[in-house]
Amino acid sequence: MNAIRPLLDIPQDELLAWLRSRDQPLLRARQIRRWIVAGRVESFEQMSDLPRALREALAAEFVPLGTRIERQQTAKDGTHKLLLRLEDDQLVECVLIRESDRRTACISTQVGCGMGCVFCASGLNGLMRNLTAEEIVEQLLRLRNLLPSHPTLSPREGEGRVPPYPLSPPGGEGLVRGERLTNIVVMGMGEPLANLDNLIAALDLAGAKDGLGIGARHVTVSTVGLPAKIRRLADLGRQYHLAVSLHAPNDALRTQIVPTNPKTGIADILDSADYYFERNGRRVTFEYVLLQDVNDSIEQARELAGLLRGRCAHVNLIPFNDVEGLPYRQPTQATVAAFVDILKQAGINVKIRKRKGSEIDAACGQLRRRVETQELAGVARPESSKGVHGAT
Ligand code: SAH
Repeated sequence: MNAIRPLLDIPQDELLAWLRSRDQPLLRARQIRRWIVAGRVESFEQMSDLPRALREALAAEFVPLGTRIERQQTAKDGTHKLLLRLEDDQLVECVLIRESDRRTACISTQVGCGMGCVFCASGLNGLMRNLTAEEIVEQLLRLRNLLPSHPTLSPREGEGRVPPYPLSPPGGEGLVRGERLTNIVVMGMGEPLANLDNLIAALDLAGAKDGLGIGARHVTVSTVGLPAKIRRLADLGRQYHLAVSLHAPNDALRTQIVPTNPKTGIADILDSADYYFERNGRRVTFEYVLLQDVNDSIEQARELAGLLRGRCAHVNLIPFNDVEGLPYRQPTQATVAAFVDILKQAGINVKIRKRKGSEIDAACGQLRRRVETQELAGVARPESSKGVHGAT
C-alpha cells in the first residue's frame, strides 16, 4: 500500500488526474486546496461542500496536513512556538509572534543547518535535510491555525474603527474571517538560500491571492551570506526584504564565528548585497549577534561603521540568546549602548532586535535539540499533541 501523502505535496497534474479517474469535476482541486489553505481545516471530513464519498476517498490516500504538533509552548508575551514532527520523524521549529498590528511567522527551511555558526543551536548537529516546499508552507498553516478564527468585533460594532488585529481579506483568505498572518521572517532553523527553490515555491503559495495573501514585501529572508545565491535571489525579482548575517567587521574574526566565511569573504557578501539593493530597491539589513568579549568592542563597532559607511544599510543588533552548552554570553546593556552610539554617530541606521518569547527557547533550534536529546536518553514522548503548554 502507498504511504498516505500530504495533499499540498501532490502536483496539480497528479491531483487533476486523480479527480478525473473518479469522475469528479476538476474544480474540486481548487476547492480542496482552498479548504486547507484558507479554510483552516485539518481533516477532509470538515470539507462540508464535498460529496461524502469523495471525502472518504481523499482520506484513504491523503492527509490535509502532513505534520504533527509534537510540542506547543506559549510565552507570556503571546509568542507561540511549535515543534512539528515530519513524516520521516524529523523535528522542525516555527514561531508565531503577535504584536499589535502584526502577526509574524518565523519559519525554518531545513532540519538542522550545515553552516555551523559557532553560537547557534540549529547547526550543532549539522544538516539533516532540506524541507520540502509543502513542509515550509505547513509551518505557516500550523501557525495561522493558532490565531483566533473569529473576529471578536462584529463588522457593525467595528464600523469606523480599525480592528485591533489584522483580519483575513474577504475573498482572498476569507473562507474564515479570523486573524491572519501578516508577515513572514525566514529566520528559523537552516540556511534559506541553501534551499532556495523550495523556499520560493512555498513563498509564492503564501503570496498568492487565493493562498495566504502575504506579499513579498512582508517577507524577510535571513542568510548567512552566500553571494552567488544572493545574486540569484536578486535576479528573481521578488521584493523580499534581505537580511545578511554579518556578525563581524573583518574576515579574520568572521572566519572564527561563521565557518563559511573563508569561502565567501565579507567583500563579496557586501558586493552581492549592493547588487540586491540595486535590483530590488530594498534596503538590506545586516544582522550582528553581539557576543560578549568576542565582537562587541568599541574598536569593532568603529570598524563595522567604516565597512558600512556610504551604503544604504541598516544594522540589526541581536543580543545573544543563551544556548545550553555554549560558552558565549550576552554583553552588558552599557556595552550594547556604546556599540549603538558609535554606529549612530557614523550615520548608520541601527536597531536592537526585540527579544520575544525568550523563556520558551525561542532561539531556533533549542527546543528541537532538547526534545531529541530526551528521546535519545529514552525519555518517553508525550502522547498528547500538546505536550508542554505554557512552559514558562
Ligand atoms: N541561516 C540564516 C538564518 C539564521 S537565524 C542566517 O544565518 O541568517 C536568524 C538570525 O539569528 C541569524 O542572524 C543568526 O545568526 C541569529 N542567531 C542564531 N543563533 C542565535 C543566538 N543563539 N542568539 C542570537 N542570535 C542568533
